[in-house]
Formats: sequence, structure tokens, C-alpha cells
Amino acid sequence: MYDYLIVGAGLFGSVCAHELNKKGKKVLVIEKRDHIAGNAYTENNDGIQVHKYGAHIFHTNDKKIWDYVNSFVEFNRFTNSPLANYEGVLYNLPFNMNTFYKLWGVKTPQEAMNIINDQRKELGDKEPDNLEEKAISLVGRDIYEKLIKGYTEKQWGRKATDLPAFIINRLPVRMTYDNNYFSDRYQGIPIGGYTKMVAAMLEGIDVMLNVDFLKDKTKYSQLANKIIYTGPVDEYFKYCFGKLEYRSLQFETEVLQEENYQGNAVINYTEANIPYTRIIEHKHFDPVNCSHTVVTKEFPAEWKKGDEPYYPINDTKNMDLFKKYKLLANEEKGIIFGGRLAEYKYYDMHQVIASALYAVESEGLV
Ligand code: UDP
Repeated sequence: MYDYLIVGAGLFGSVCAHELNKKGKKVLVIEKRDHIAGNAYTENNDGIQVHKYGAHIFHTNDKKIWDYVNSFVEFNRFTNSPLANYEGVLYNLPFNMNTFYKLWGVKTPQEAMNIINDQRKELGDKEPDNLEEKAISLVGRDIYEKLIKGYTEKQWGRKATDLPAFIINRLPVRMTYDNNYFSDRYQGIPIGGYTKMVAAMLEGIDVMLNVDFLKDKTKYSQLANKIIYTGPVDEYFKYCFGKLEYRSLQFETEVLQEENYQGNAVINYTEANIPYTRIIEHKHFDPVNCSHTVVTKEFPAEWKKGDEPYYPINDTKNMDLFKKYKLLANEEKGIIFGGRLAEYKYYDMHQVIASALYAVESEGLV
């Protein structure tokens, strides 16, 4: 008999497991996949840590969270500076003075602001209420057309005018020559991979892989007094109100017998007629000296049952549906719903960890 059964060995589940174990609770983690670490999972390919479910770059402003992850594994000083390829021309991301110089030849922040302010005028006094309007209000139409529209519409499979504005707030706009994608104080990649970090969290804890909780909920529920469930909330309730929508991803990974394929970890392809959104070259996240390289093209796709759900589509329709599931979840006794899939939330890793720490804290254990 366990005190806690944790369903899912991703970041939410693993942090909860670690914290509860630390407090002397007896914990069992069950995981549907054949590995731990959820979508942050990295796999060693002859020395290169391959991000199997897409690029994961850790960043946070919270020193407590930074110290927490560093207590499990050492982080390197990786800084994400992606490039955008639009019709064969490379632009720096996030949108900053390098981008503006390349686009318009402007050299000062004032010159750049003048162009952006001029392009913003098309919105008049209207408060932006979708992603397209928000993007134009932030950077103007030129950048929207070249670096945002194509990427966003293939990423989400929806028109930018039908998408929530908050998605684009993830990208900073900078009036400096700073290509650092994230504005957070701390950033890096765990040396040796995320799997190593999660394995350290789960050290000394019972973990069963290839176990699907929902296949026999009653049987597994009897193993513990309390459950932490990190899978999809709608699947838990047998899709009784219908399915929540997700964007899924397909990956095409190649091992190339060359040392350096693209010279950068991430290059985005922002035009609509290239079917993938980005090419990741894994060795640049956690540099190694080797004669081969591994690259992955990322193709977005609509999620259907049986695919991996990646990005929740947090539009009004889906959020209304989620609220109904949330009410059911609140009524379930002895079970905590947490993490990206159970909370239907576009979470970054540091946010998931903070949320898991909070969930355990809320248990009020001494
Ligand atoms: N985005 C864009 N052009 C880019 C990169 C991002 O328009 O070259 C937009 C797009 O709408 C995307 C959002 O910014 O969904 C957030 O991008 P981010 O890189 O944060 O997404 P993630 O890494 O989570 O896939």
C-alpha cells in the first residue's frame, strides 16, 4: 500500500514524487510510456542528447526554481538565439534591433520605433483581440507577414485572426541588439540531458513503466490512499463532454555524417508553404565534439486520438469545455489533477515545476 500513486513520470509527477518521498511518504509512480521525463525526455545518440519530443530549453526568473533544478543536475549556459528563415533570408529572433536592421536597414531604436508606430496605425484605436491584431500592434505588418503569420498558422492550423492574442506575448520585442529569446534571468540545458535530471528526482522511488492507469483505474486506484493524475483531464472522464483540442507534432529525425549542419540549435521556417516549423540541431543544446550530428524537422498536425497531445488550444471554445471538466475534477475525492494535460495549460517547464511544488505544499504535510 502506498500513500500516493502518481500517474505520469513527466515533470509534474516527478517533482511531486520527489517532494512527497522527501517528506517520508510512500510513493508509486506509474507511467504509460516506456520511459520517464515526459516530453522533456532526452535520448543519447552516440554522445548527442536528442530531445525526442521537441526542443526543451529551461528558463526561469525564479531563483528558487533555478536552484531546485540545479540541485539534481548541472546546467550549462545555453542561450536560445533562434533564427528565422523566410524565403531563404535569415533574420534574428526574438524581434530585436538585429531583425529591424536586416528588414529595414534601420540602426537606431528610434528609427525602428518610427517604422513600427507607422505600421501600427492600421489598427486605429482598436484593442487587439486576436493574435493577428496583437502581433501588428507589437511589431507592425512587415514582421507579421514575414515572421509571424506563416509560422503561426501552420503551427496552430488555424487563422491568426482566430487565435488568442496571449500566444504571441511569449515572444519579447526588444529595442536592443540582443538575440536572447528569453528575458528570464536564468537559462540553460541540463548537462547530460533532461532524462538525467528526472532520474535524479525519482531516485529511490518505485517507478513502473508501460502501465496505463486508465486501462484499469479501479485496480490502480486501490494501490494508494491518494492519487496525483497528470494525464489528459478529458480522457480521465471518458470524454463525457467531448474532446479537448490539441496541436500535435510529427518529427523527422536524421543522423548526418557531418559535424555541423546548420550552425545553430534552432532555425524557424516562417513561410506558409514549407510544411515544418523548425529544424533543431540537437548537439548545439549541449555541445559535444563528434563527427556526426542529429537534426529534427518539426511538422505540426491536428491531434487525433492515439497521437501525442502537445499544445492545448486555449481558445474560447476549448476553455469553455475545459471548465466543465474542471468542475468534475474538483468533485473527485482523493485525487489531484496537475500538469500540462490535466490542467489543459500551455505550460513552460519552470511553471510546471512551480505548480508541482505548490501542489505538494498545499497538502500541508509536515
Ligand atoms: N512565433 C512566430 N514566429 C516564430 C516563432 C514563434 O510567429 O518564428 C509565434 C507563434 O505564434 C508561436 C508563438 O510565437 O506559436 C510562441 O512561440 P514559442 O517559440 O514560444 O513556442 P514553443 O517553443 O512553445 O513552440
